[in-house]
Amino acid sequence: MNFTRLRLAGFKTFVDATEAPIEPGLTGVVGPNGCGKSNLLEALRWVMGESSFKSLRGSGMEDVIFAGSGGRPARNHAEVILTLDNSARLAPEPFNQAAEIEVSRKISRGLGSTYRINGREARARDVQLLFADASSGARSPALVGQGRVGEIINARPEQRRRILEEAAGVSGLHARRREAEGRLEAAEQNLSRVEDVLGQLS
Ligand code: ATP
Repeated sequence: MNFTRLRLAGFKTFVDATEAPIEPGLTGVVGPNGCGKSNLLEALRWVMGESSFKSLRGSGMEDVIFAGSGGRPARNHAEVILTLDNSARLAPEPFNQAAEIEVSRKISRGLGSTYRINGREARARDVQLLFADASSGARSPALVGQGRVGEIINARPEQRRRILEEAAGVSGLHARRREAEGRLEAAEQNLSRVEDVLGQLS
């Protein structure tokens, strides 16, 4: 699935509604120091479910909201909307019927953030799995921020393996497997409790 459009409002330096088309192929962001290039990359990672404020260079999740500058007052909300082309119908169920998928995340001061997929409220996990299945996500090696190349070169083998798995689109399967293992363990515990009860009754 290709990303086709990124829209932001109130996110870090992008105080006004801003729209960036994303064309096929490699996308580079150029501009003077401090103009917001890294913020743009962070907006992409944030809408894909980034949950660590440290990796968004903040000290709290609300630090992504425009904090005010140059006489402009701070905002109370930040929103990022990412549009994906699903014309090849590669999105996982239940999203694979739509030709276009719109994922949004909005944060309001004091209220936390909410996600929507095609207008419907979704959990962070749904959004993270959607992108993991599309070989993307907040930690995707396709997003090459400053220092990232050096980081990959110096990565330990298991970190490199994670990068390769993300690129191959299998990291979503790992998450599902961990969940299934948790459910299996809970079922086994229930079963042994039932056996205890049966043992007491006989
Ligand atoms: P460089 O080329 O130096 O790495 P850059 O183009 O990547 O710069 P960013 O790091 O994206 O720039 O943007 C930094 C700017 O974003 C700083 O001026 C910082 O004050 C501003 N900024 C960060 N968070 C917020 C916020 N919540 N509200 C307003 N401005 C913010």
